[in-house]
Amino acid sequence: MSNEKTPGFNTLSIHAGARPDPATGARATPIYQTTSFVFEDVDHAASLFGLQAFGNIYTRIGNPTCAVLEERVAALEGGTAALAVASGHAAQLIVMHTLLEPGDEFVAAGQLYGGSINQFNHAFKKFGWNVVWADATDPSSFEKALSPETKAIFIESIANPGGIVTDIAAVSAIAKKAKVPLIVDNTLATPYLCRPIEHGADIVVHSLTKFLGGHGNSIGGLIVDGGSFDWSQDDRYPSLSAPCPSYQGMVLHETFGNFAFAIACRVLGLRDLGPALSPFNAFLILTGTETLSLRMQRHSDNAKAVAEHLSRHEKVEWVNYAGLPGDSSHGLAQRYTPKGAGAVFTFGVKGGYDAGVKLVSSLTMFSHLANIGDTRSLVIHPASTTHRQLTDEQKTAAGAGPEVVRLSVGIEDLDDIIADLDQALAQI
Ligand SMILES: *Cc1c(COP(=O)(O)O)cnc(C)c1O
Repeated sequence: MSNEKTPGFNTLSIHAGARPDPATGARATPIYQTTSFVFEDVDHAASLFGLQAFGNIYTRIGNPTCAVLEERVAALEGGTAALAVASGHAAQLIVMHTLLEPGDEFVAAGQLYGGSINQFNHAFKKFGWNVVWADATDPSSFEKALSPETKAIFIESIANPGGIVTDIAAVSAIAKKAKVPLIVDNTLATPYLCRPIEHGADIVVHSLTKFLGGHGNSIGGLIVDGGSFDWSQDDRYPSLSAPCPSYQGMVLHETFGNFAFAIACRVLGLRDLGPALSPFNAFLILTGTETLSLRMQRHSDNAKAVAEHLSRHEKVEWVNYAGLPGDSSHGLAQRYTPKGAGAVFTFGVKGGYDAGVKLVSSLTMFSHLANIGDTRSLVIHPASTTHRQLTDEQKTAAGAGPEVVRLSVGIEDLDDIIADLDQALAQI
């Protein structure tokens, strides 16, 4: 782009990272569906392998279609660099693999996507990474959970499924005092509604599967390096601060400065663990990012109107939506997500578990499935599905009690969304 001014969010959503294809002039980003890339000569190959030059080697480590997506989301989040990976869970795995050694701890909000609770409680334990739970509604609980072994803090900006908005700046202040990075899962908000780096996050992770892709057709994940964390302050993050045996003793934070974390995630985490994003999925998700603003505003506006309607409905016990005045997260939502509180929220039906099951099976336009962030309206009863593996205590702590129904409100006509909910509620 020729003008000096930083382009606006809508412009970045369409243009960041992309340029006409140098070989063909293709305007849309091509799908570089190739495993590997030919070296110019032996010296070029050596410099790529030694990290002395940037370029493509093998699609597990990097790919030009994925690179456009990385540059785009980094620009939208206000980060220094990004790494695209196969799923949101892969993003979390690679972030923790880069930060933690066996025996280390991290503090996480108890109000998280159910899959993240499982990943932290079970899969991560096998790596010797120990989660200590805190309460997203009480920033001081993060401070109480710290120990000398703590290496990171993990929260969601808008927590799935309870719809709680976390006080990012307050948790960031605790992380800064403890000299550990704050990781924010920004999947539900997207950078259109909230930019966590501006509030003190050091690392942002995404499930691209949800609103960034936005059309329910591709699994993907992404890590954004905020560029803010000082990896040189001590030797507690050896992936960044110790001489790297696979790169001739290079110290990554010395060589790569404020994007060293993204580099470490790529050249150590993704290289060795392997969950690469396919270029085809990157292409579909890139197309989704171009309409992010339009979709997120419509998602949020529809969700707010649906939440208002349900809060007046006789069969509904309560509605948790941060966009509603009177909601316990409303004040934080006005501060962190002023354009809208997103599309995902929960409500309680009168009649508990059975009423919840009856509702999901009576809806016709809503799809009953385990996803959020599609153009289509989606519904799930977490207690019988996504949160089934959790104990009753964990279910309630995660906002997934027996009467709870979660909606991901789509971008269809509002009247049709409300009509479907009304006919299903009438059948309870
Ligand atoms: C879906 C989701 C994830 C996991 O992402 P996948 O792409 O399914 O691996 C993580 N965090 C949140 C908030 C999610 O909604």
